Amino acid sequence: MADLHIAAISKSFGATQAVQGLDINIASGEFVVLLGPSGAGKTTTLRLVAGLEAPDTGRVWIGGRDMTDVAPALRDVTFVFQQYSLYPHLSVYDNLAFPLRSPLRNLSEADIRAKVGEVARMLRMEDKLQNPSTKLSGGQMQRVAIGRALVRSPAVYLMDEPLSSLDARLRSDLRIELKRIQQDMGATMLYVTHDQVEALTMATRIGVLDSGRLVQLGSPQEVYEDPNSVAVASRRGSPRINVLPRSALPQLPLPPAVTTLGVRAEHVQILAQRIDTASHPRARVLRIERLSDQTLVHLRLDGSDHDLVVAAPPGQAAEPGTNVHLKIVQSLWFDSGGQRVRNG
Ligand code: ATP
Repeated sequence: MADLHIAAISKSFGATQAVQGLDINIASGEFVVLLGPSGAGKTTTLRLVAGLEAPDTGRVWIGGRDMTDVAPALRDVTFVFQQYSLYPHLSVYDNLAFPLRSPLRNLSEADIRAKVGEVARMLRMEDKLQNPSTKLSGGQMQRVAIGRALVRSPAVYLMDEPLSSLDARLRSDLRIELKRIQQDMGATMLYVTHDQVEALTMATRIGVLDSGRLVQLGSPQEVYEDPNSVAVASRRGSPRINVLPRSALPQLPLPPAVTTLGVRAEHVQILAQRIDTASHPRARVLRIERLSDQTLVHLRLDGSDHDLVVAAPPGQAAEPGTNVHLKIVQSLWFDSGGQRVRNG
């Protein structure tokens, strides 16, 4: 395993700036997840590291070596895509063995057998090794695709939404397995996902991309609790953070620079009746959404057409159509450019 340094990389396609001045240092054994909306430049970043795209400016360093001009096959990275690409005419064993049979490696069949066996054990696919790859379920095929990356023990793994084509159950199983395998192997991983549960459970650090720029890089907790822009705040959290203009909550004392508020659903309390209305916003209950792990109350703020979602404790009685008072326990403040205004 090795460290990865993406140094001031930029890449345009015609008029589209896909990646702009991106700088990330990833330590050996770190699991960095890239999050961002569609078109933010996540896949392009992986392709630049793999050498499938050449940067306009900037360098890619792997294990202390400048790889910018090195051919993809010689960079010692593996790339797992969203859509598994197996050789249909080969068995699971031969699919897993394929990367090891490259003439560049010069491994004996005994070495190959040992390595394939080890990875099949990790993926819990030992009993499927002789199956033709066409006789596997989608989830099993994707395991084999991931296994083909794992057998190589490369310097860096690049994964582009490798679990997104799987159903929810398999995704959660493989998420846990992949994290365990990554830790066991001490693998360096750069991983793209839209799924914030994946980001939260697997990442050592999360990098948030927006319009080709890295807008924040930090632990999952930092990115959630201390986002530096409204774009980052909106990337993490389920339900999504409530984003409101300051006029929607005139009760809150705010510094003049603040134009927008971010209020997480768990940072609002629905109060018992008869509260001082001057300082507590009033709202009408629109509907209640009971999920397995939380109850969401959808509200319309009085005097505005802005809605708010509040995570209520179990059993909280709030009937659709009734009026309630709210206590905003915590809020994040942003200026007109969407940048964070620090509280105090
Ligand atoms: P998604 O989540 O939808 O996969 P992404 O964050 O991975 O998005 P990229 O695929 O890296 O985004 O694309 C970044 C921008 O670059 C987009 O505007 C995309 O249309 C553009 N782009 C990417 N590859 C090419 C290409 N080969 N030719 C032209 N434009 C491209």
